[in-house]
Amino acid sequence: MLTRENPADTREIVSHYQDSTPDDAAAAADAAAQAFPAWARVGGPARGEYLRKAADILESRLEDVAVTMTREMGKTIGEARGETRRGVTILRYYAQEGLRELGLTIPSSDPRTLMYTTRVPLGPVALITPWNFPIAIPLWKMAPALIYGNTVVLKPASLTTGTAVKIIECLVDAGIPSGVVNLVSGSGSRVGRALIEDPHIHAISFTGSNEVGRDLASRAVQHGTKYQLEMGGKNPVVVCDDADLGQAVELTTSGAMRSTGQKCTATSRAIVLEPILEEFTDRVVARCRSLSVGPGLDESVYMGPAVSQAQLTTDLDYIALGQREGARLLCGGKRLEEGDLAHGYFVAPTVFDRVTPHMRIAQEEIFGPLLGIISVRTLEEALEVANGIRFGLSASIFTRDIDRALAFATGIEAGMVRINGETAGVEPQAPFGGMKASSSHSREQGRAALEFFTTVKTIAVSPTAY
Ligand code: NAP
Repeated sequence: MLTRENPADTREIVSHYQDSTPDDAAAAADAAAQAFPAWARVGGPARGEYLRKAADILESRLEDVAVTMTREMGKTIGEARGETRRGVTILRYYAQEGLRELGLTIPSSDPRTLMYTTRVPLGPVALITPWNFPIAIPLWKMAPALIYGNTVVLKPASLTTGTAVKIIECLVDAGIPSGVVNLVSGSGSRVGRALIEDPHIHAISFTGSNEVGRDLASRAVQHGTKYQLEMGGKNPVVVCDDADLGQAVELTTSGAMRSTGQKCTATSRAIVLEPILEEFTDRVVARCRSLSVGPGLDESVYMGPAVSQAQLTTDLDYIALGQREGARLLCGGKRLEEGDLAHGYFVAPTVFDRVTPHMRIAQEEIFGPLLGIISVRTLEEALEVANGIRFGLSASIFTRDIDRALAFATGIEAGMVRINGETAGVEPQAPFGGMKASSSHSREQGRAALEFFTTVKTIAVSPTAY
């Protein structure tokens, strides 16, 4: 049995969960394989009814699920409620997908032949998910996998297993047939790897770090298993000298500091044109100094703790590295340990300026509340700096100039682009994913999920009598 402590107060144990073995993973994959033929025959509209019921149940349990999430991984209760509401929307969106068309009719060279395509499920699929969106990410994989007729084995992040169990309970209470949805808890390197190599598993959808994703991809290729990877980011905002500075400051701060910077789409680089560098920097620093940091269950708190001791150590190591690299620490830069905060993994919102594009703090994903400000002279230089990294997940620009906005939208190497918006934030009905090392170049959510969770079958029907 494994336990999970509350990152805001490590004296509190939040959840207990099974330390599963590779045999448990094999049993889950086998259950998914047994359930697959019947589930594939159920049909989209009826499958949608299960998702609709699960959405209603999740909605009715929203507060319980949100509190569990906050206690387990630290994000503020407001963000946890928002994410759970998003989970409800994802389920309802994909319930509707069960009613949509799945193919095309295509003219055959023989005019008497009806030729058409349909999309068929892949079979049992494994979903391996991270801790930072413990409701939204499992659901944005599970809901499309299920609606298109696949059965699933979910391997959630160990840090947020308790929250993942809440989703499974909603589906089970909605009456989903036994074996259609399975969860395996425990170490990724043991049970996750066992799932990747299981002969019953026909596809793997993974969200997490680049290191694990790359290893998973090479194993999937060896086994001939379809895979998709969504991984890290190092997301920039470009702040032009004609920007609405109030908007740019607020959305840069929330992009960098909400969820303690632990979003793949978090803002970690502010690339600022020189004429407004000083004013932007002063205002961002003042805003970051004003943020309340504490346990996420306190409704007045803006930023909760780092998720774990390991993540706290990473944050503090990068803060020390930034100083050694010659960046100037403007605020934060330390663990917060006053009073009860000493029992949690709290780090102060941290801003560096005089960051240069090749510093490691400007190149590597930190996944903490650290913002680096880089000064540039022109939009062309801003684009060069923004693109000068291995990642390409999300990016935004603050400007009132349509020409600059369009030049940015065209030139930026990122899968998600915002004009006058935060780098973080996705909508379930729109395709989501990154370029370069951020992804395996497939997309999730919206109708893009159909591409991954189904395969095309082309059918030609000819009359018998010639
Ligand atoms: P992680 O360490 O890569 O873990 C992700 C999942 O993989 C967990 O369920 C983990 O299980 C499992 N795992 C670990 N080692 C494995 C192995 N050898 N084989 C199979 N599975 C294995 O990532 P994380 O720390 O949870 O999440 C943070 C990362 O996710 C960041 O890099 C962030 O950018 C990325 N992320 C990307 C997106 C996106 O959509 N692009 C969204 C959110 C997060 P255990 O928990 O048991 O180790």
